[in-house]
Amino acid sequence: MIVTENIAEIRRIRWADSGLSWGFVPTMGFLHEGHLSLVRQARAENERTAVSIYVNPTQFAPTEDLSNYPRDMERDLSLLAAEGVDLVFTPSDVVMYPDDFQTAVTLSQVTRPLEGASRPTHFQGVATIVAKLFNIVQPARAYFGQKDAQQSVVIRQMVRDLNFNLDVVICPIVREADGLAMSSRNAYLNPAQRQAATALYRALQTAKSAFERGERDGRALRRLMKETIAAEPLARLDYASVAHPLTLAELDVVENEALLSLAVFMGQTRLIDNLLLPE
Ligand code: AMP
Repeated sequence: MIVTENIAEIRRIRWADSGLSWGFVPTMGFLHEGHLSLVRQARAENERTAVSIYVNPTQFAPTEDLSNYPRDMERDLSLLAAEGVDLVFTPSDVVMYPDDFQTAVTLSQVTRPLEGASRPTHFQGVATIVAKLFNIVQPARAYFGQKDAQQSVVIRQMVRDLNFNLDVVICPIVREADGLAMSSRNAYLNPAQRQAATALYRALQTAKSAFERGERDGRALRRLMKETIAAEPLARLDYASVAHPLTLAELDVVENEALLSLAVFMGQTRLIDNLLLPE
C-alpha cells in the first residue's frame, strides 16, 4: 500500500495503471466499519482502490469541531492495509489549499435545506474538496455512504452538472448493534449520551412503522420523530424532515418515496441519521 501526501505521486501511480479501473473512497479518517464497508465495495468492483484521509477545514464552520475532530492516522493506515487498499492520499492543508487558493464549487438548490440550513457553508466546502479529489485521483467509481444522505445528493448533482467522468456509488448505512449509525463523531459521546443516542434510530423506526401502517401525512411523520427525540432528556432536536429523496423539498404527503432524516445535538455533539422509505 502506497501512502502519500503528494499530488504528483498520486498522478504517477494512477497513470502507471491507467488501463485499470480505480475505485475511490474519500474520508476524513478515524475509520470505522462504515468507512470499511465502502472500501470493501470499492475493492469488489474495481481493479485498484484508493482512499483519501483528509479533515477538510473548509467544510467546518468556525464554531464547529475542526480542531477536536478525532484523528488516528496510524490505526487508519493499518486498517486500510488489512483491507488490501492500493493507495492512500493523506494531503496536508498547504497541498490542498495553497495561499493563493481562490476557487469554490457551489450548488444552488440541493445544498440549501436540511444540513445546509444548519451549516450554510458546509456543502461548498464538501463540493470543492470532492471536486479536487476527483481531479487528482480520477477514479472510475467513487463511493459514498447513505449516512450522509444530502451529501450523496450534492455529489451526484455536481458530477452531473460538471460532467465528471465517473460513477457515484452510494453504500448503505452501517449501524452499531443497538441501531446507532456508526460515525467518527460517536467518539465524542460520554456513556450516558451514547446510550441516549439510540433515540435517533428509534425516531426513524417510529416514523417508518407509521408509514407502513399507512400514514402518508408528512407533518404527522415529522411529529412522530420530534416526539421521540423530545422524550430523550439528553437530546436536543435540530431538525426532523420528511423530504423528497432527490429535490430534498419537504413533503406534505408521501406518495411514493421519502427521505426521513434528522439532526440531533447530544451535548455539543451533533449527530445525523436517515432512512429511505420504502426501505
Ligand atoms: P467521513 O469520514 O465522515 O467524511 O465519511 C466518509 C464516507 O464514509 C462518507 O461517504 C460517509 O457517508 C461514509 N460513512 C460514514 N459513516 C458511515 C456509516 N455508518 N455507514 C456507511 N457509510 C458511512
